Amino acid sequence: MRRFIVLFSFILSITSLNAQQKISYLLDNKADLNKVTIEITFDALSATDAKLVIPRSAPGTYILTNYLAFVDDVVGYTATGKQLPGMIGDGSFFTFGESNELLNKVSYTVDIQKMEIDLLDASTSSKAREDYLGLFGYSVFGFVEGLENEAIHLTIKTDPSWPVFSTLRPDINRKNGTDSYEAENYAVLVDAQYLLGKGVQVIRVEEAQIPLFVATYAETSIDLEGIGKRGLLALQQLADYFEYIPMPHYTLVYEFLNPISERHDYGFNMEHLNSMTAHRDISKEYDTNRDLGSIIHHIGHSWVPLRSWGEGYHPFAWQVAPLIETIWLNEGFIWYVSYYEILKNEEILNWWQSNMDNAPDFIKNKSLKELSLLGSTQYASDFRIGKNLFSRGALMAHDLDNYIQQQTNGIKSFKEAILGLLSWSKDNKRAFKYNEIEPIMSKATGVDLSPVWDKWQNAPE
Ligand SMILES: [Zn+2]
Repeated sequence: MRRFIVLFSFILSITSLNAQQKISYLLDNKADLNKVTIEITFDALSATDAKLVIPRSAPGTYILTNYLAFVDDVVGYTATGKQLPGMIGDGSFFTFGESNELLNKVSYTVDIQKMEIDLLDASTSSKAREDYLGLFGYSVFGFVEGLENEAIHLTIKTDPSWPVFSTLRPDINRKNGTDSYEAENYAVLVDAQYLLGKGVQVIRVEEAQIPLFVATYAETSIDLEGIGKRGLLALQQLADYFEYIPMPHYTLVYEFLNPISERHDYGFNMEHLNSMTAHRDISKEYDTNRDLGSIIHHIGHSWVPLRSWGEGYHPFAWQVAPLIETIWLNEGFIWYVSYYEILKNEEILNWWQSNMDNAPDFIKNKSLKELSLLGSTQYASDFRIGKNLFSRGALMAHDLDNYIQQQTNGIKSFKEAILGLLSWSKDNKRAFKYNEIEPIMSKATGVDLSPVWDKWQNAPE
């Protein structure tokens, strides 16, 4: 206990030393409720070197999204008070000219309404309503290249009567008009969601092992407690399976929306470190049984891949949609845990197999790695690719499960394999390489898993 206290005060003093170097973000949504203004203040650097990067993708989205299209009024500010207009670069970034003047602030606006109209997949877009602003961090926050790893102090300012909520620090007691948050770095800042406005409802779910919240915006009447109950059940079942919970707190974010057009798709949900975001089209029926499976799946992602991941997933190349070789693992292993292990749905094996059998040739003839590379940008846009990836991953998990149980007389199972990956990541704090996956699982189970692994690497016969 004493050692702990000494260590703690040491960390505190280091933190206060670093406090001055912190980057400040200001999100302002007062002037026009459909737009946000972002200001980023940082230690001055030469205007020629400064690049404001706008993300083009985010971990787990497996899609290329041109968020730059909704960014306008980009301005750089010099230490002497001069304004330099931002110019679009050769990629998803802005530059500020050739001068040697020192730049210490940039600002820009993001048109949330335009974003929602243009992006047909509701799971990629932020939303603006009369009484609501729901923001995905990566859809509004850019970064100054080179400063991605710096700690961030964020201030949010909105209408004085609007409560402010963020999954960074969930709380049922919300401040009105303004609040501020600390984020370890850019990746943490943009992984979070920000929900502003009188239309947002927040409840805390009692009896959960960690602080558990439901935050919603609904254009119909909804059963908030019901979502909370399913969230609690999902969390408990995952905790029983993995035997620990790595998240400090968790928020289920739900939007129940009137579709803004027939072409808009509300089918996909998104996982984050300590939250999930679900979207429901209120003109369609809402199946609470299916919802439970989806909640287990998305909370399950807080273990894999969010805390055990392959190369490309983290650290993330924000300016592109990076190629990722392990989407089948990220998705398939969690599909297997959620539906086969926790929900005991044995029939789902047939569905996974039929997804593989019914795939077009351009999917069928790809090796596991090739299909994952293809899915890095087109996982949901051609969902036959996404379905094939998680089906192959889940069926591989099932084969591994059977093989491990057979070789160990039922003493070990797939669970030891996935726990092995998680504990490896905790120790090594980096992405595992593709050729490290099988040895990590083999070591954790004490079974040479290469026969099963090798079989699944090829295109299916
Ligand atoms: Zn998923």
